[in-house]
Amino acid sequence: MAYFKIIDKGNGVNRLFIGGVHGKEGSSTIEALKQIRDEDVSQGKLVIHNCDESPYLSTLDPLYYQSEVGKEVLSLISYYKPTFYVEAHCYNKKNFSKLTSLHRMSKAGVPPLIELEKGVLIGSASPSIRTNIFRKEDVCITLEMPCIPDQDSLNVYLDVLRIFAASRSREELEKTIKELYPSQLQTAIKYAKEFFGNYPPF
Ligand SMILES: [Zn+2]
Repeated sequence: MAYFKIIDKGNGVNRLFIGGVHGKEGSSTIEALKQIRDEDVSQGKLVIHNCDESPYLSTLDPLYYQSEVGKEVLSLISYYKPTFYVEAHCYNKKNFSKLTSLHRMSKAGVPPLIELEKGVLIGSASPSIRTNIFRKEDVCITLEMPCIPDQDSLNVYLDVLRIFAASRSREELEKTIKELYPSQLQTAIKYAKEFFGNYPPF
């Protein structure tokens, strides 16, 4: 379900939110992305893009970024050069324990996703883009909610998107996340250090 919007509030950080990067998840992520309003952006720019339905390939699969939609994601990133990048996903509830499992590192080669609340999960974006395309100081996350979310999950997901839309710097963003989710931020820092070395948490 394609959707595209640019909110431009002049100088400041570039933000890019991309939803529905594989399979049918775009029909859920669009419900959140289309609710982001001009007034949610403090300054700088926010580009919102929701992709059409595509064959499902994990973004951890090396072939993903060679697929049509994978190339679309890469071209959006290289064109807009976001400092804040949010990949908006949804998951089938039966995969919750797999995504958050402490064994995810040995099974899937990436750290577990971290639950903020109400089934909303956060983690780094796919390591291949995190380390190859983004600068270390960029903020680069995967945000997940259950597909066809209930109102509580959707509200948490939207609140996180709005924090990214409103924050003017990495420092401000981290401060807000720390106030709301201190233990989750600690865990994210721990995983980032284990996985990426001395990377910032996202
Ligand atoms: Zn996904």
